[in-house]
Amino acid sequence: MASYGYIIVGSGIAGLYAALLAREHGRVLILTKGSIEESNTRWAQGGIAAAIGEGDSPELHLQDTLRAGAGLVDEDAARVLVDNAADAIADLVRFGVPFDTADGEMLLGREGAHSVNRVIHAGGDATGAHIEFSLSQLARLSGVTILEYVQVLDLVVEDGAVVGLKALDTRSNRVESFRGTQTILASGGLGQLYRVSTNPTVATGDGVAIAYRAGAEVSDMEFVQFHPTALRLPGVPVFLISEAVRGEGGVLRNAEGESFMARYHEMEDLAPRDIVARAILNELSEANGDHVYLDVTHLDAARVRARFPQIYKHCMDNGLDITASAIPVSPAAHYMMGGVRTTTWGETTLPGLYACGECANTGVHGANRLASNSLLETVVFARRAVQRSLEAERSPARPWPGSVAIPPAEGGAEGPHPSLSGLQELMWRDVGIVRSGESLSRARGVLAAWQGMVEPSDRPSQELANLLLCARLVTEAALARQESRGAHFRTDYPEPADSWRHRLVFRR
Ligand SMILES: Cc1cc2nc3c(=O)[nH]c(=O)nc-3n(C[C@H](O)[C@H](O)[C@H](O)COP(=O)(O)OP(=O)(O)OC[C@H]3O[C@@H](n4cnc5c(N)ncnc54)[C@H](O)[C@@H]3O)c2cc1C
Repeated sequence: MASYGYIIVGSGIAGLYAALLAREHGRVLILTKGSIEESNTRWAQGGIAAAIGEGDSPELHLQDTLRAGAGLVDEDAARVLVDNAADAIADLVRFGVPFDTADGEMLLGREGAHSVNRVIHAGGDATGAHIEFSLSQLARLSGVTILEYVQVLDLVVEDGAVVGLKALDTRSNRVESFRGTQTILASGGLGQLYRVSTNPTVATGDGVAIAYRAGAEVSDMEFVQFHPTALRLPGVPVFLISEAVRGEGGVLRNAEGESFMARYHEMEDLAPRDIVARAILNELSEANGDHVYLDVTHLDAARVRARFPQIYKHCMDNGLDITASAIPVSPAAHYMMGGVRTTTWGETTLPGLYACGECANTGVHGANRLASNSLLETVVFARRAVQRSLEAERSPARPWPGSVAIPPAEGGAEGPHPSLSGLQELMWRDVGIVRSGESLSRARGVLAAWQGMVEPSDRPSQELANLLLCARLVTEAALARQESRGAHFRTDYPEPADSWRHRLVFRR
């Protein structure tokens, strides 16, 4: 059986960056279930937050992060995040990411809920593509072994510690085992849980499901961020229209042409994402429509084309000139705040297992992620995970007092067989942007029955099984949390409650 110093699951920014650091300390293997660039990273548009501009400071960045996180941010973790931002950017520059500059200075964009301009970008709105390309090229040239189209199925645990994993070669359908001294999960999010999502098809929550099955703790799963503005054109797949567009002066308008956000929040179009997403839903239900408009026609056309080349081209290819007509948009599932619970050193509750990137729950996002903090989080905590793996004394995350298991799947159920589209529809309707005890209880019953019906064999059925497990974690957490906070909104408990100012942690 092949043996490595580091086995890394996933080839987005978290996995690639961890690999580039780890290669100096041992043999590194990356397993990735699609081609190397298939990842959420590839699609990131807005950029990376870092307090490097004049008049900005890590303290200000921290305050914005805490405010967006609605009382649930782990302040120690968030402090690590903001204090290490400048170093993280310097590292990415060292690894070849061509951030946009003018006169030798990084250009800084603005996004929702940031009090100043602090979002660094590359190629305008092609930030993720540049990161993915630069890091994957370097990894390929750096002696890192990269196996594409290999889907990790489960971890191998011996005497309570993770010592490797089992994976499916999706081209031959053969299962292989790999041994690793350190295993790093960097498998990204779960956007495919929802019918409307900005995430690519690889985002099926595998890392969370794998870790939970192995006995690691998983937390904050009720908090799924819905991005307010995804392109809504008939017959055109979901495509994100970055918040940076509103940062540059884009304005949301309803069917009447009214710029409505002032009625919902004092930050208007740059209010936190959950508020903007619910405001749009409200406008839609009042007008019985399926989209509102994001208007940039009042901005300088040349500037729009230069700042958002990817969005401009994508819309133009689909017959919409955004410099002349407003963009039809509606909310879409976008980002998982929860994940595998880690310390500020990337350690999970299982010795030998680290997690970083979107699959990890470091606590920096609390109940709602501040825009552009996610790419930053991947780099800051991937680096700390590799640093920690080199220390003789390691300390896995201590078990969370009061962690609970989700109820077992129900066997022998009858009714429609689970399918990806059925699951996505159910989650969108009953566990989406707006939830209630009634909708969540309905989803709970269906999911428990469906989970007992899936027999994973190939990649699609493995993904469906993982998504079902994640769906159950999201639903159970949302049902337990009898309040509204950040991205979690319940019509039967529409206000935050002080008694709920704590995290919900699950362990098998
Ligand atoms: C459209 C879009 C725009 C965004 N814009 C921004 C932005 O401007 N700023 C920002 O900060 N964040 C943004 N985000 C969020 C950010 O891109 C992600 O949170 C971040 O890229 C996650 O990186 P990652 O490396 O953790 O995961 P990913 O980049 O998603 O990579 C995960 C990797 O794991 C692999 N994988 C998954 N399961 C398995 C398995 N079982 N076996 C093997 N491999 C597996 C996948 O194939 C993939 O290679 C955006 C997200 C989207 C979708």
